[in-house]
Amino acid sequence: MSQAVEVYKFGGASVKDAESLLNVAKIVKQHKASQLIVVVSAMGKTTNALELIFKARLNNNQKLQNKRLEQLKGFHVGIVGQLFENEHKELILNEIEGVFHSLKDSCNTKTGSEDELYDKIVSHGELLSTKIVSATLQLKDIDNKWIDAREVIITDQRNRNASIDFTSTTLKLKDQLNKQVKKVYVLGGFIGSSKQGITTTLGREGSDYSASVIAYCLNAKSVTIWKDVEGVLNADPRYFKDTQKLDQISYENAAELSYYGASVIHPKTIQPLKKLKIPLYVRSFEKLETKGTTISEKESVKNIASFIIKPQQCLMSLKPKDFSFVNEKHLKVLYTHFDDISVRVNLAQHSAIHTYFIFDQKWIDRINKPLLEKSFEINQKTDLNLITICFSDEQSIEKITKDQTIILDQKIGKVTRLLTY
Ligand code: ADP
Ligand code: ASP
Ligand code: MG
Repeated sequence: MSQAVEVYKFGGASVKDAESLLNVAKIVKQHKASQLIVVVSAMGKTTNALELIFKARLNNNQKLQNKRLEQLKGFHVGIVGQLFENEHKELILNEIEGVFHSLKDSCNTKTGSEDELYDKIVSHGELLSTKIVSATLQLKDIDNKWIDAREVIITDQRNRNASIDFTSTTLKLKDQLNKQVKKVYVLGGFIGSSKQGITTTLGREGSDYSASVIAYCLNAKSVTIWKDVEGVLNADPRYFKDTQKLDQISYENAAELSYYGASVIHPKTIQPLKKLKIPLYVRSFEKLETKGTTISEKESVKNIASFIIKPQQCLMSLKPKDFSFVNEKHLKVLYTHFDDISVRVNLAQHSAIHTYFIFDQKWIDRINKPLLEKSFEINQKTDLNLITICFSDEQSIEKITKDQTIILDQKIGKVTRLLTY
């Protein structure tokens, strides 16, 4: 495999039903020049559905677990029914049956940690979607090879948030591709396995990162992620009406936007691409004629103020119980705890006798309060918004805060961060 390889990534929204799958086949068919690695996420909201199956399993609620398994199977079988006929249909239905068999086996696993079980169960979304995408491409005469991502994406053993072993992944990927030379390969994003062969995942929404890792390992010519938006916009269209598309942004700016929470790109995606100067194109799978956003070394021509909103934030304030000033030892304890429980701190601020941490409130239950309460008095406030403005000016700050109460603000260079309700 040479530098000519390109990587396409299709997220959940681009493979959510029969019509979208045909659209994926159309996009792949239009790709002529090089070999292509197609990285696919689970279909539609499948990962959320699998998380609910995992929850039912944890609660030993067999009835609910089975009901949800049947619903998920019905969703996939329904789509297959719309796309395939006769022996093609039989073949792919057999494959799906096999994946559901493995999923039920995973639900019955009694050994290993909770996080290990999570990865075992939730990874089945990508196994299902890739089998169906591969068969759909074949149906449209696009010869391709399905690769089990768990055999090539090698990670450490940190379940739910695994780190890539780039050396092993490169070797495994190249080995797989050399085994059988094809124009198109299909494999799942988000999932991998440890050297011990235990299934891992890279964190929710991690398929963009998988595409970037694969591109890095194969020194690809480019990566294109196909989205339901025209490219990277200066704000999330779910919260803002008058958004603007950013035609060209530098790796640094893109990394910043995603780090602060612009959910259009997974935050880890940029770094491997920047290292090898591989351009990243963000394009619309609906409007194929539009150019999208290019992320590369080139700076944007004009710096447009960009807004990122992270809702449902928790502000936790901690005060040392011994009335001492907040010092490095306190912070070490706290940051170590956040690292141990894989909770990302979205913003932090320290004063003389308080330290403040802001994180996604869905992680509150992970905090070991009894442990921290040995040394700190804890208070928390939830349902807050964390607003980040890149390339902020007075006008842009005023625009976004006019109906919000600000409880904390930070400004560093061109970036303003506000915690509001
Ligand atoms: P995928 O199908 O790949 O999982 P996502 O749903 O994760 O796609 O990402 C696309 C969504 O990201 C868009 O529908 C949009 O609502 C949201 N989004 C958030 N911030 C931005 C932004 N700055 N530009 C474009 N889209 C954004
Ligand atoms: N399917 C996974 C998720 O929904 C990964 C991804 O879509 O990027 O989180
Ligand atoms: Mg997504």
